[in-house]
Amino acid sequence: MIYLLKHSLHRNRHRERFGLLDELLHNQTLTREQLLGKQQKDLSAIIDHAFNNTPYYHEKYAPALGNGANEHAVSRLPILHKDEVIQHRDEMLARDLDRRTLRTGNTGGSTGKPVSFYYDNHKSELMRAGMCRSYMWSGWKPGQKILNFWGARQDLKGGSSFSKKVNDYIAAEKTIGAYEYTDTQLHDWAGYIRSYKPVLLQGYATILAELARYIIENRIRMPETVLGVFSTAEVLYGWQRELMERAFGCKVFNQYGSREIPNIACECRHGNQHVFTDMVYLESLSFNNEDRLVITSLTNRVMPFIRYDIGDSGRLKEGGCACGSPFPMMEMGLCRSNDIIRTGSGKSVYPSYFIHLLDGLTGIKQYQFIQDETDKITLNLVSSSRLSSGILSALDGKIRTEVDENMVLEVNYVDEIKRTVSGKHRFVIRNTA
Ligand SMILES: [Zn+2]
Repeated sequence: MIYLLKHSLHRNRHRERFGLLDELLHNQTLTREQLLGKQQKDLSAIIDHAFNNTPYYHEKYAPALGNGANEHAVSRLPILHKDEVIQHRDEMLARDLDRRTLRTGNTGGSTGKPVSFYYDNHKSELMRAGMCRSYMWSGWKPGQKILNFWGARQDLKGGSSFSKKVNDYIAAEKTIGAYEYTDTQLHDWAGYIRSYKPVLLQGYATILAELARYIIENRIRMPETVLGVFSTAEVLYGWQRELMERAFGCKVFNQYGSREIPNIACECRHGNQHVFTDMVYLESLSFNNEDRLVITSLTNRVMPFIRYDIGDSGRLKEGGCACGSPFPMMEMGLCRSNDIIRTGSGKSVYPSYFIHLLDGLTGIKQYQFIQDETDKITLNLVSSSRLSSGILSALDGKIRTEVDENMVLEVNYVDEIKRTVSGKHRFVIRNTA
């Protein structure tokens, strides 16, 4: 049980994180009623804090809250949009902070607008603790190995210092920079999983699905140590989940969170997404025929995010789950708002339609549909061969009959498809209003 020894070394190094994890684990032993009561208290406290300690919220909430009114009707408070965070970042900071302890982070810009924000060490330790709690739903225990596939440019084989190796060993966590990849790299990564024998795999859905496809096609045996695959940051499609579950022989857990508000929800063994009500307050509001998720971080006192329109859609679900978790359930919308194609006649077409358009075609390595003009869809393809004229006219005809009769399809053959700033891949992008 060498992992127990490693874990106690790791725990000593990160006392705050594991203290927070203990609290979070305690919270999931509460009843739903107790959790919701705690959530209401935390919500009032964070609104009070933001109103009294940040110039931005003080001004924004003055009409609703008056001069420090205590009756907080959250539904009366205005929504916080990304543009406001971009414009008023510094005014959202709480007063009396030692600015030297702050760092800045950036979101991926999945809606085309990267948001920069401040955070401190406490927030990052709480984020890690929250992630550990989610991992534990798979059967993983603190101290067991995790292998991450992230978008950072970092070379797996590159030399690393002795102290970094010792740290990695104690943390039992490795990160592979999976910003771009070739078949050779997929081959190396599969080999690395076999030798490293992680208990968890974590990364972007597109990367893990590509790796899974390679593993299945080449009949590579994966170690039985893997208990769970955590998919994060991108929309997880059903076909990606199937590939991963086949390749790695374990359950895939869909995590929901962002860099500015981590740990919003996570999927349990029974396939339901549970909302972490001890970390966030989640609302689903209907605008433009869409259930938009509006999220409040209950823990971020450095730069509060309250009623934040995060750019995703989804809704809360009633009832309880067979897994026994007291956390309420939610359902994610299958896409981000600007992944939906909107036609001239006012029709909305969901990304899965376009994703399935290419079903059965061989030789396609990567693709992306982009709507830059109302009546034009551009398909960028990374492919070993060009599509035949028969296939092209079939695709064109299908789009004209099923999407819009004026819609023109243009195909570009490209060498690579650029990921967003954070390394995310998007299959469908709408750049029109
Ligand atoms: Zn559940």
